[in-house]
Order: sequence, then C-alpha cells, then structure tokens
Amino acid sequence: MNTLGSLYIISAPSGAGKTSLVKALLALDPSVLVSVSHTTRAPRPGEQEGQDYNFVSPEHFDEMVGRGEFLEYAEVFGNRYGTSQHWVQQRLAEGLDVILEIDWQGAQQVRRLVKQAVSIFILPPSREALLQRLAGRGQDDSSVIAARMAEAVSEMSHYPEFDYLVINDDFDHALADLACIFRAQRLKQHPQQQRHAELLAQLLSE
Ligand code: GDP
Ligand code: ADP
Ligand code: 5GP
Repeated sequence: MNTLGSLYIISAPSGAGKTSLVKALLALDPSVLVSVSHTTRAPRPGEQEGQDYNFVSPEHFDEMVGRGEFLEYAEVFGNRYGTSQHWVQQRLAEGLDVILEIDWQGAQQVRRLVKQAVSIFILPPSREALLQRLAGRGQDDSSVIAARMAEAVSEMSHYPEFDYLVINDDFDHALADLACIFRAQRLKQHPQQQRHAELLAQLLSE
C-alpha cells in the first residue's frame, strides 16, 4: 500500500469509549479523518447512514467481499463489519492521516498489510465502569449489552498486540494521551522529511 499519510488503528472492547474519544480528537485535529465502515448491524437511534456507518444488507456485504472491496473485514457480535480499501488507499495517497476504528481481528489483518500502521488499544478503568458505560449509552438492549460484556475479557486479552495502551478513566486525560500519540507520530523522520523538504534542502545547501 502506498502510504504518504499515516494509518492508525484504534481498538477497544465495546463501551470503552473509543468512538467518543475519536470524535473528540477529530474536533481538535481536522487533519485526521476516520474511515466510515460498512456494517450489517441495524442503525442505533441517532446513527446516520454514511456518517456513523454505511449500513448494508448481508447480501450486499457478501458482494463487496466477493469484489475484494474490503481492506479488512470481520464478524463481531454476530454482525459483519468491513473497511473500504479504496477510500483508505486514496486518503493515504493524498497524504492524509486515517483512523480505523476496528476490532482486534481487523487490526491483525491491517497490520499484515500495512507494516507501518500505528495501533492503539483503549481500556476502561474497571469492568464495572465498562458495564456502566455500555448500559449508560442507552442504545443497545439488555441482551446485546450482556453479549458485549461477555466478550469484553476475550477482546481485552489482545491488548499486547498494540503499539500503545490508553486507559480511558478521566476522559480529558485519555484524550490528551491520544493526541500525544498522533503528535509524536507526525514528528517522526519520514513524515517530517516530506513536510519540510524545502527547509531541509535550504539548511543543507552549500
Ligand atoms: P462500539 O464501537 O462498541 O460502539 O460498537 P459498534 O457496533 O460500532 O462496533 C462493533 C465492533 O465492530 C467493534 O469492535 C468495532 O471496532 C468493530 N468494527 C467497526 N467497524 C469495523 C470495521 O470496519 N472492520 C472491523 N474489522 N471491525 C469493525
Ligand atoms: P465505544 O465506541 O468504545 O463502544 P463509546 O464512545 O460509545 O464507546 O462510549 C460508551 C459510553 O461511555 C458513552 O455513553 C460515552 O459517553 C461514555 N464514556 C466514554 N468515555 C468515558 C469516560 N472517560 N468517563 C465516563 N463515561 C465515558
Ligand atoms: P458497534 O456495533 O458497537 O458500533 O461496534 C462493535 C465493534 O465493531 C466495535 O468493537 C467496533 O470497533 C467494531 N467495528 C466497527 N467497524 C468495524 C470495521 O470496519 N471492521 C472491524 N474489524 N471492526 C469494526
């Protein structure tokens, strides 16, 4: 994959706060984009087509898989989720930074394809807090919440596969941690060389 921009993978057990943190980060930093996934899950109250997800039928999803349109896809909690290969590739080629909010299975697939991807795992401060947040979000029914809680420990066991760990206890603290990761990544040699090519040439000219 041609990657002028940086690719970030953000995963977390459901309810840990990844969507809220990513929304807040985008508000602080307009140069980052988030990939809108395709899903076979039904929309939650308030979720908008094309903004939160592209909501598609299982048949449509299968067709997209058949045409090789996904960079990665996975089944999570009985629904299917996938990331558009074309959209991500285009944005990275334009030099933009892209966030994938995906589960650990998708993260494994993307790491194999994009070696320089930066991966971040978000954890809740306790199991009780996770349950409270899942229930407090008020958008899933109790059987869905119970299924997501039951999966949480096995999802969290994948934390060592990620480059960074952020504990989302105090929201603003976790947001600052996340912003630091993005800032440090931008200061790496390769992106800095591309950004400041003219300055570097001037500084080193005879
Ligand atoms: P929430 O993120 O827990 O609020 O719940 P969602 O229903 O939005 O997402 C369910 C799961 O699917 C989460 O683990 C997401 O990270 C994952 N997910 C969302 N989009 C994608 C995707 O495009 N690909 C993959 N592999 N997983 C995704
Ligand atoms: P995810 O996308 O990981 O499933 P959400 O971003 O939807 O999680 O967050 C789940 C719920 O927890 C939301 O109602 C959100 O407002 C709340 N939440 C997120 N972070 C915190 C925090 N640090 N403290 C308290 N509540 C939080
Ligand atoms: P929710 O249904 O609550 O929006 O998301 C449930 C889980 O699916 C979350 O862990 C979320 O990160 C994951 N997810 C959402 N979109 C994708 C995707 O495109 N690919 C993968 N692999 N996981 C996704």
